[in-house]
Amino acid sequence: MAIERTFSMIKPDATRRNLTGAITAMLEEAGLRVVASKRVWMSRREAEGFYAVHKERPFFDELCEFMSSGPTVVQVLEGENAIAKNREVMGATNPADAADGTIRKVHARSIGENSVHGSDAPATAAQEIKYWFSDIEVVG
Ligand code: GDP
Repeated sequence: MAIERTFSMIKPDATRRNLTGAITAMLEEAGLRVVASKRVWMSRREAEGFYAVHKERPFFDELCEFMSSGPTVVQVLEGENAIAKNREVMGATNPADAADGTIRKVHARSIGENSVHGSDAPATAAQEIKYWFSDIEVVG
């Protein structure tokens, strides 16, 4: 299995509840390594740019409002099969559907305030890492 990098965010509902360490520990316990991390309070414009792929979706405004409502921790995670592994430990988008032991099952509040983001494919991982980090900020 190849070593991959993926992009992760700890969303404002989680930073507000002081869950940065608890969530990072769950990622690390799943075998993922944090190779870049910073806390950002994204602007509405940055949220709209990051989530541009969802701009026609009915929840787009709510999503961008939420993501710019407080601090977020943006991270690059590295490990074997990191993209799929991160999606697995995150759990389903809606915490009501998430498997036991996943981050969203344990910590998320709703389908909108669902605590974490993770890239869904290699191309989006590369694009999302580049959106938030320069090459010298990622240290494996
Ligand atoms: P993910 O890959 O599991 O994060 O899910 P998606 O790519 O489908 O959606 C991106 C993000 O949009 C989700 O993580 C949610 O924060 C948000 N989202 C998705 N569906 C809804 C919804 O029905 N209502 C609201 N408010 N937000 C949603």
